Amino acid sequence: MTVKAAEASGPALTYSKMRGMVAILIAFMKQRRMGLNDFIQKIATNSYACKHPEVQSILKISQPQEPELMNANPSPPPSPSQQINLGPSSNPHAKPSDFHFLKVIGKGSFGKVLLARHKAEEQFYAVKVLQKKAILKKKEEKHIMSERNVLLKNVKHPFLVGLHFSFQTADKLYFVLDYINGGELFYHLQRERCFLEPRARFYAAEIASALGYLHSLNIVYRDLKPENILLDSQGHIVLTDFGLCKENIEHNGTTSTFCGTPEYLAPEVLHKQPYDRTVDWWCLGAVLYEMLYGLPPFYSRNTAEMYDNILNKPLQLKPNITNSARHLLEGLLQKDRTKRLGAKEDFSGPSDLRHFDPEFTDEPVPNSIGQSPDSILITASVKEAAEAFLGFSYAPPVDSFL
Ligand code: ADP
Ligand code: MG
Repeated sequence: MTVKAAEASGPALTYSKMRGMVAILIAFMKQRRMGLNDFIQKIATNSYACKHPEVQSILKISQPQEPELMNANPSPPPSPSQQINLGPSSNPHAKPSDFHFLKVIGKGSFGKVLLARHKAEEQFYAVKVLQKKAILKKKEEKHIMSERNVLLKNVKHPFLVGLHFSFQTADKLYFVLDYINGGELFYHLQRERCFLEPRARFYAAEIASALGYLHSLNIVYRDLKPENILLDSQGHIVLTDFGLCKENIEHNGTTSTFCGTPEYLAPEVLHKQPYDRTVDWWCLGAVLYEMLYGLPPFYSRNTAEMYDNILNKPLQLKPNITNSARHLLEGLLQKDRTKRLGAKEDFSGPSDLRHFDPEFTDEPVPNSIGQSPDSILITASVKEAAEAFLGFSYAPPVDSFL
């Protein structure tokens, strides 16, 4: 009855209207939360203010109400049988009581992400806390391990979140990450509905750079979606959440585990066919499409219809985007992964010479340049030429050091 009354009172909510309403609510709550976070950060970074009893009481109140995290009931260190091998990132001396846990800033499938301040270093971190039980129950230990390894490999890339170290207690794993405080791309996209092309282009370029880097390490990200794309305080992209990364996928290697978010599933994943790194280029296409149009490509409220659209419906692009954006979307959202943009050359690296004049690049490389001196047959004339240049290599005169 209530449903009928609601239906009679007006047209059904469309997806975008619903998203819009939810976005406004979320934006309001997040704005409030971010304001409070900023305030807490400001007072917590000021060591003089930190000592003030009222500030201390605020910091205490704002701590998440979890006994182990508040150190009231610390979880014991793991016994040898509870120990999960955290590899080289593992810091055996670290423990939860090294941190003040200030705020919950995110929730995922296995646990929470908290803003924490390291007591001794006085540094802010995002600490991802995962329940061992939940992981083992879902037999996802492998995924978590790959998360750790991937995080370890990418610490030096500017658009991938950095892992400082990890540790564990009897029942939890802790990953100590860079604290990225610009919010999820999703949050900004929901608030603004869609982005103007230059902004979407900037984010897409940074995401592509991060994906290309992961691919160069034989890692497929697989789970690219706005919730996993964060912005740092300077407005740059930072990819987080490596739980679903698949490591050691060689250039043409494939894998066929089903995972990902329905709206961004590539056709080969839906078909349960083996897939490879080109799945990430499809997802980049889906994210770029959503940034430009405000909805994922092939979207339908009816999931079965959406799957059917992804598999069979030709990509239709409304005319309000530039030709470059159109070509890019057509290339990335190509249903046949072997024809998809990035299938042949992936993200171009140092082998991309398009920006050099073909007058030079078309020239053959002289054979002699690549040979070591002892392999060159030293003829009398070569020797003479070499001697004429004796002293050519510059070395500062000895007395210049005095
Ligand atoms: P899950 O693997 O369970 O999805 P994520 O790693 O994606 O967990 O983290 C959940 C949420 O926490 C993210 O969507 C993001 O909003 C927030 N988050 C994760 N890592 C960080 C970080 N380093 N800095 C700030 N927020 C983060
Ligand atoms: Mg996530």
